[in-house]
Amino acid sequence: MSHLGRQPIALISDHGDPAAEIGSEAAGGQNVYVRQVGEALAKLGWQVDMFTRKTNPDDPAIVQHSPHCRTIRLVAGPQSFIGRDEMFDYMPQFVEAFLKFQSKEGTNYPLIHTNYWLSAWAGLQLKQVSNIQLIHTYHSLGAVKYRSVTNQPAIAPTRLAVEKQILEQANCVVSTSPQEREDLRNLVSQQGCIEIIPCGTDLDNFRLVPKAEARRQLKFSETDQIVLYVGRFDPRKGIETLVRACAESQAKTQGNLRLVIVGGSEPGTFDGRERERIEQLVKSVGLANQTVFVGRLGHDSLPLYYAAADVCVVPSHYEPFGLVAIEAMACGTPVVASNVGGLKFTVIPEETGLLAPPQDSTAFAVAIDRILEDELWARKLRKQAATRVRQNFSWGGVAVQLSNLYRRLLAQSIMDERFWHLPLPNSVQLPASQAEVAQVAAAKSLTLAS
Ligand code: UDP
Repeated sequence: MSHLGRQPIALISDHGDPAAEIGSEAAGGQNVYVRQVGEALAKLGWQVDMFTRKTNPDDPAIVQHSPHCRTIRLVAGPQSFIGRDEMFDYMPQFVEAFLKFQSKEGTNYPLIHTNYWLSAWAGLQLKQVSNIQLIHTYHSLGAVKYRSVTNQPAIAPTRLAVEKQILEQANCVVSTSPQEREDLRNLVSQQGCIEIIPCGTDLDNFRLVPKAEARRQLKFSETDQIVLYVGRFDPRKGIETLVRACAESQAKTQGNLRLVIVGGSEPGTFDGRERERIEQLVKSVGLANQTVFVGRLGHDSLPLYYAAADVCVVPSHYEPFGLVAIEAMACGTPVVASNVGGLKFTVIPEETGLLAPPQDSTAFAVAIDRILEDELWARKLRKQAATRVRQNFSWGGVAVQLSNLYRRLLAQSIMDERFWHLPLPNSVQLPASQAEVAQVAAAKSLTLAS
C-alpha cells in the first residue's frame, strides 16, 4: 500500500492489540480507542501505523484495516499472552523491533502517540534517539489504581516513575476527562502539557433502537426489568457491587428483575476466575434464576443488548474513562455508574442516568430502582443520554481534536528547527500555526493531513 502524499504517524499500544477481539481479558477500552482513533485519523488524511506486541505466532504480522491504517505486530519476548505487570522486561526488545521496522520501511515517524505506561517507556526511549513529537494517553493511572490495591505489584515503582516522566517529557499528554487531568496534577506532576480530549464511540453502530424491537430480536420478555452489565471480568470492575445491589433492589422483590451480564472469556484465565467468583455470588444471593451470563459479544451485537436494557450499570471502583457508559447512552440506555473518574464526566446525574459511590451496593440498588420505577422519567433520560453522546463523543470528533493537536505540535517542531522565518503567502487561510505547518512542510517536502 503506497503512503505517498501522506504524513505517517505511529500509535503504540503495547498490550492492547487494535486488531484483537474486543471484550476478552487482554482486550478492552484501549484496543477500541487505538483502533477507532487510528481509523478516523486515516480518514482525516494521515498514514496511521498502529504498533502492538505479537502474542500469538499464528497472528499475521501486519493487519490492513483500511487503505491508510494498519496494525503492525512486533515480536518482543514470547509470542504468547503476558500479563501487563510482567511485560516491562520485553519493552527494550519492542523498541528494537520498532526501530528495525522503521528502517526496513524507510520511514521515520515524526510523531508517536503512545498508549499505557509501557508504551510511554518505549516512546521515551525513541525520543532519545530521534527528533519526534511524543503524545501520550494513560488509559489507566498507577497513582490512582494503586490506591485501591492492597498488594502492589513489584513493577509499581517503575510504573509510577515512567508515568511521571512521560507527563514531564512528552510534548503533550492527552487526558480523557477533567478528573484524569486533576489526578495527573495532584498525584503525578505539576509540570508538562495536558490537553483534554475525550474518548468517543461509533455512532453508526451504537444508535437508538426501539426497546421493544431489541427485546423481540433477543427473545427477552417485554415485561422484565432488565439491568445490564457489559465489560471485562475484573474485580476492579465492581460486578460484585452490581450483583449485591440487584439482590437488594425492589425489582428483585417484585420478581421481574433480569440481570444480564455480558463479557468474559475462557475458564482458567484471570477473568475466567473472576467470572466463577461472580457466578458463585449470584447463586448465594438468590439471583441464579434471574441472571444470564451471555459471554463475550462483538460490537455488532452489543447495540441490541444496550437497547433492550432498562438500565446499564457501570460499577467500577476506578474508571479512567469508561467506554461502556457512552456506548449504552448512545443506544438510549440510562446509566447508573460509580461516581469516579471519567464516569463523573460522561454521565450527568438526573439527566442521562445516576451516579453512586463505588462499592456501595445499597446506593446502587436505590439508583437502579429509581430508574426502573419511573418509566416516564426513564424515557426522558434515554433521549437526553443519546443526545449527549451524539454531541460530545463521536470518534470522528475525537480524531479531529487529536489531528489538530498533532498538527500544532508538528508545526511547533518545524518552527523549532528555525524554519519559522519563511514568509506566508496571502492565500493561506488556515489558522496561523496550521498555515505555518503547511508552508514549512511544503518546504521540507512533508505532507500533513488536512
Ligand atoms: N466489550 C465488548 N464485548 C464484551 C465486553 C466488552 O466489545 O463482551 C467492549 C465494550 O463494548 C467497550 C470495551 O470492551 O468498548 C470496554 O471498554 P471500557 O472503557 O468500558 O473498559 P476497559 O475494558 O477499558 O476497562
